[in-house]
Amino acid sequence: MEDTIFMKIIRREVPAHIVYEDDETIAFLDAKPNVPGHTLVVPKKWAENIFDVDDATLAAIMRTVRKIAPAVRDAVGAHGVHINSNHGAAAGQIVFHIHFHIIPRHDRSEFEFWPKREYSHDEFAAIAEKIRANIS
Ligand code: AMP
Repeated sequence: MEDTIFMKIIRREVPAHIVYEDDETIAFLDAKPNVPGHTLVVPKKWAENIFDVDDATLAAIMRTVRKIAPAVRDAVGAHGVHINSNHGAAAGQIVFHIHFHIIPRHDRSEFEFWPKREYSHDEFAAIAEKIRANIS
């Protein structure tokens, strides 16, 4: 699992349009962008996803996300960005090397959020209690 396509990009074995690199992270254009400028931020130290990444690596990723996000936005004249990340196959993760997508957005009409539902008070209370009980 550790020898991911992103590791090959880090080692320069696979080409990529790298836009930023430091000791802990790398950022490059997504090969199949949702929109022009769609960029991925990836740690050089492998972790599969949010369920196993260590705090220092996650902090390094987020430092780079914050550094790169305004550059991605301004490079394409956008007004905002989506910062998305998929964790687990059930959530659509395809590359099992933790990464964050920075996707520039010009206008709210460009995308759809997932459908929302209504909860009863009891449903809210029950799920909140289960989440609290599972925090370690
Ligand atoms: P996900 O795991 O769902 O966040 O998706 C992985 C993302 O990595 C997709 O958006 C792919 O287009 C992107 N991707 C996969 N291989 C490469 C590559 N060699 N260079 C750049 N992006 C890639």
